[in-house]
Amino acid sequence: MIVVMKRGATTEQIEHMIDRVERLGLKAHPIYGTERTVIAAIGEKRDEYRQSLESGPGVAEVVPILAPYKVASREVKSEPTIIRAGSLKIGTSTGGVIAGPCSVESEEQTLVTSRAVKAAGATALRGGAFKPRTSPYSFQGLKEDGLKILAAARDETGLAVVTEVIAAEDISLVARYADVLQIGARNMQNYRLLEAVGEAGRPVLLKRGASATLDELLLASEYILNAGNPDVMLCERGIRTFEAHTRYTLPLASVPWLHERTHLPVVVDPSHGTGHTSLVAPMSAAAIAAGADGIVVEVHPDPESALSDGYQSLNFEEFENMMVTCRRVAEAVGRHITPLL
Ligand code: PEP
Ligand code: MN
Repeated sequence: MIVVMKRGATTEQIEHMIDRVERLGLKAHPIYGTERTVIAAIGEKRDEYRQSLESGPGVAEVVPILAPYKVASREVKSEPTIIRAGSLKIGTSTGGVIAGPCSVESEEQTLVTSRAVKAAGATALRGGAFKPRTSPYSFQGLKEDGLKILAAARDETGLAVVTEVIAAEDISLVARYADVLQIGARNMQNYRLLEAVGEAGRPVLLKRGASATLDELLLASEYILNAGNPDVMLCERGIRTFEAHTRYTLPLASVPWLHERTHLPVVVDPSHGTGHTSLVAPMSAAAIAAGADGIVVEVHPDPESALSDGYQSLNFEEFENMMVTCRRVAEAVGRHITPLL
């Protein structure tokens, strides 16, 4: 249910209603909008709860939340959520470009990449230190050494660091170095991990599972939101279909579909979404045209020698050219790509 407070309801009235919701054994999620405050009351649905809350002080109405996802839903919060993490701002007319290598391989590789992507206009640095690889024989990441390299790149360039966490026991370590915690496609339905990142005090980039529906993605975000973390960005990174020409199939209709249903920002990863360097720039431009709040792109100084995902990584020149096109498309749809540096 959503307890919609009247315009001008006082802080005491709002706090009183949060308390009443909690006394009913429900979880209260107050959302302070510019126009009015609503309190999402999550838990078992009972008609008598609704009636009892409706008579509360400062309450305009109590309405059921129809969507299966509750806190992520536009029904609960109509204004878009804006997420800030250092140099990155996502969810407004400012679009975010998160760029960097698939994996942190060395200090030199990460530092030169961070300088190049910053110069081309990226707003955050990506790079995996803990890598979820399909084969246990593939490069697994530099782990804490990789995190230290990312932190050094942030110190030098000012770019916020986005990096993946693959296990709950690594969260405190990764959160010490990262500005944004990435949950990868393979872990989208690892619910204990989702709850744990919900308590980590860092914004989360939640990638869609390769076989997950959009409802499942939204329900996954709900685990993080319910744990008390409002800063979740959703990432469309492609799904597995019968089509074999691209690594995954990148459904860009997800962007406007998600925007209609959730206030959370939506970003697109055209690198994993296509699996081919030559397709990344056109699909980045298409994602921005479709209204994406940001893109996540893999960039490497020498893609041919990359330890992971070289075949879908851009070199510096390709990234620079892509940014020129993306900035033009962004302007055309009323957005700007500007780092907060
Ligand atoms: C990545 O971002 O490098 C990654 C492993 O992505 P995904 O989880 O989407 O496969
Ligand atoms: Mn990758």
